[in-house]
Amino acid sequence: MKTKKEMRNYQRAYRQKQRQDPLFVIKLREYYREWYKKNGRKRAKNYNEKNHKWREEHPKEVQAYYEVEKALSKKLIKKPNKCSKCGRVTKLVGHHPDYSKPLKVQWLCHSCHKLAHAEKTIKARG
Ligand SMILES: [Zn+2]
Ligand SMILES: [Zn+2]
Repeated sequence: MKTKKEMRNYQRAYRQKQRQDPLFVIKLREYYREWYKKNGRKRAKNYNEKNHKWREEHPKEVQAYYEVEKALSKKLIKKPNKCSKCGRVTKLVGHHPDYSKPLKVQWLCHSCHKLAHAEKTIKARG
């Protein structure tokens, strides 16, 4: 059995070793950057509230979104890097023309996605 002190020393040595590894440092930096993007202090609260409201109002979208995430992680589908409408290389959102077919997803940039929803609303109104 190792004593607590030994364990602590071991962990400290381990972390020090990690910090000397440039690849680890890069990974760590990326991790924090991602974390701040997601949890950035200023907008965190507002963002969560909005997100929560949206989820409650759009249960079908949420379900379809989860199906897509699952399929992506299982590599059943692939996320392209270009918007399928305008071809812009940017961050894409999975859009569902039909929520009953969650894996029939259209990858759109933010502005095309907005447009797609506007069109959908107009069509739904008739
Ligand atoms: Zn686009
Ligand atoms: Zn959409």
